[in-house]
Amino acid sequence: MKIEKLIIAVILLILLWTPLNSEQATGITHRRVRVVIDPGQGGRDPGAIGIGGVREADINLAIGRLIFLKALTDPLIEIILTRSDDRFIEPIQRALFANSVKADLFVSIHGNGFRDPRAHGIETLIHTAAGQESYLLAEVIQRHLIDNLGARDRGVKRQFLFIRRAQMPAVLVEVGFVTNPREGRLLQTFAYQSQIATAILAGIREFVTTHSHLFERATATR
Ligand SMILES: [Zn+2]
Repeated sequence: MKIEKLIIAVILLILLWTPLNSEQATGITHRRVRVVIDPGQGGRDPGAIGIGGVREADINLAIGRLIFLKALTDPLIEIILTRSDDRFIEPIQRALFANSVKADLFVSIHGNGFRDPRAHGIETLIHTAAGQESYLLAEVIQRHLIDNLGARDRGVKRQFLFIRRAQMPAVLVEVGFVTNPREGRLLQTFAYQSQIATAILAGIREFVTTHSHLFERATATR
């Protein structure tokens, strides 16, 4: 553990010492793909209430923060969070925020709740009329989650969603049921939250790598 802390300290120091525009300084013109991560619910909207009274909003935030931290030194992608604390934001505003920062991808993080405690598993949602790019992003994130967490695969589904307002490929990940005794407890552990964050990031990285043409076009028009 001591060595891990030392490594984290060194990484933070390097980050602090690296000028923000170092890419320009070295003449490299590529940019990182900008991903808005949206921890769902928050503030006066706790979302689903689960096992032990846990609030979905807190689990969403914990996973969102972990995605942000894990991608800090990523050469491919840059993460922007819609919220990094416990606050209420209207759903539509989250999508409009992604538009305003010219995000390339939008990923909203949620937990599921259901009156039947037996319901469990992970699903990734896209808007009813979403295009092929959103579908492919959902599919790759869902695959990474299922392969790495051993959770039940509820698949990729289409629903009428606020993310329709995002002008870029947009998905909503339901990372599990807070109301299921087993999954609801797992979702409250750092280890499981961290695995989810890693899997979502791996899915985003794979999408960015295999669809790099999408982001070259974005570079030209920005
Ligand atoms: Zn939610």
